Amino acid sequence: MSFVDSVELEVQAGKGGDGIVSFRRERFVDRGGPDGGDGGDGGDVILTAKDNVNSLSAFRHQPLIQAKNGQPGGKARRHGKNGQDIEIFAPVGTVVVKDHQDLADLTEEGQSIVLAFGGKGGFGNAHFKSSRRQAPRVAENGEAGEHHKLILELKMIADVGIIGLPNAGKSTLLSVISNAKPAIAEYAFTTLVPNLGVVDVDGQSLLVADIPGIIEGASAGKGLGHDFLKHIERTQVLLHMIDVYSSDILSDYQTINNELKTYSSKLSNKAQVIALNKCEGLDKATINEQKSKLEAVTDAKVLAISAQAGQGVKPLIRHLQQVVSQAAAAEEEVKTADEADEDTIYVGLDQEPEWQVDKTEEGFVVHGTKIDKFAKRTNFQNEFGVGRLIDIMKKLGIIHELNRQGYQNNQQVFLTKSKKYRLPKGQI
Ligand code: GDP
Ligand code: MG
Repeated sequence: MSFVDSVELEVQAGKGGDGIVSFRRERFVDRGGPDGGDGGDGGDVILTAKDNVNSLSAFRHQPLIQAKNGQPGGKARRHGKNGQDIEIFAPVGTVVVKDHQDLADLTEEGQSIVLAFGGKGGFGNAHFKSSRRQAPRVAENGEAGEHHKLILELKMIADVGIIGLPNAGKSTLLSVISNAKPAIAEYAFTTLVPNLGVVDVDGQSLLVADIPGIIEGASAGKGLGHDFLKHIERTQVLLHMIDVYSSDILSDYQTINNELKTYSSKLSNKAQVIALNKCEGLDKATINEQKSKLEAVTDAKVLAISAQAGQGVKPLIRHLQQVVSQAAAAEEEVKTADEADEDTIYVGLDQEPEWQVDKTEEGFVVHGTKIDKFAKRTNFQNEFGVGRLIDIMKKLGIIHELNRQGYQNNQQVFLTKSKKYRLPKGQI
């Protein structure tokens, strides 16, 4: 069973335009000064996450994405036109994978990543004039654009994850509340996911995942446990189902919660709603007795239901919808307060760290395999280029680290170990 939709993608950035060799024509002068212009930069291939994109299926029809090449330079120092970038769109929750490594995780509307950088345009001969070399006949070729084979994976983000011990009634509830296949198809997953349901609540839809198999030991990686736990980390709210007939209801509840805690604090801090299931044949007093045991140890709302008989299911769904909205709003607030902190996760296998910040007497030195690559591609004379580099530094967590190490506005920040590049001051 899979929660993942995935598609292969080939991206080709534009080649940089060639610089040219040309000389000014002047009257009475055999040959004027060099005036060959630079080539334009090749276009980038950019991927952006969009809320209104629901699937990766568009890429199935068009698996090769190409940006435009830069134009060659012209006479009279004319700069070749830059090749146009191409921007493609994927659903929020898309992960970019290359060679089995996650390169980026687009978790928010509007988040972008450059999948392939365009080649830089070559310098024309006007660039190479020096006192010794008045008539340079040399121009650079444009760089090739990057080319990558990638996989895009859409990790489905459910609003509600149903957890609980085996036989609590998770699958039954999902089958009762969700309008199954047609609605699931809207999300266009390649593999139909049997335990994923879309529930209509007063005109809004709630994506609910049945997460079976959480048993003691799951967090130690036994069985399917880990995958499921990983999955529910992304849901907004957990619906914790408990069999009302249990002889030790607190122990049932805690068994599952301990699993969550062992796996991650993120999970154990998720909002929970508790559903006491199989209540259809029981009298109120018995139900309340069980209910109050739970209420004594948690602030979570405890609702009595019968998944099978459909009793109390509607109020439960409405309540879940409310808690989901609240959790979403709260998450939004945390994000704005703590922006881009761990938004994008880059993973690399290189021995050298991807980035590192060293404090030196001359200023801060930022270096590492990943950030060096970006730095070398940046045109530090260009405001936009510098802005983009700073965005990347933000996403990688470098700005956060600089601040942590006491960076003050107007301090010098160098890039690469050789300190070859410096950020213009006051830009961060
Ligand atoms: P899961 O393991 O949590 O997915 O549980 P299932 O949905 O497979 O249900 C386990 C068993 O409990 C099945 O035999 C269901 O028919 C039964 N069951 C589920 N919901 C109810 C309910 O509301 N009342 C009763 N009496 N039995 C239920
Ligand atoms: Mg089940």
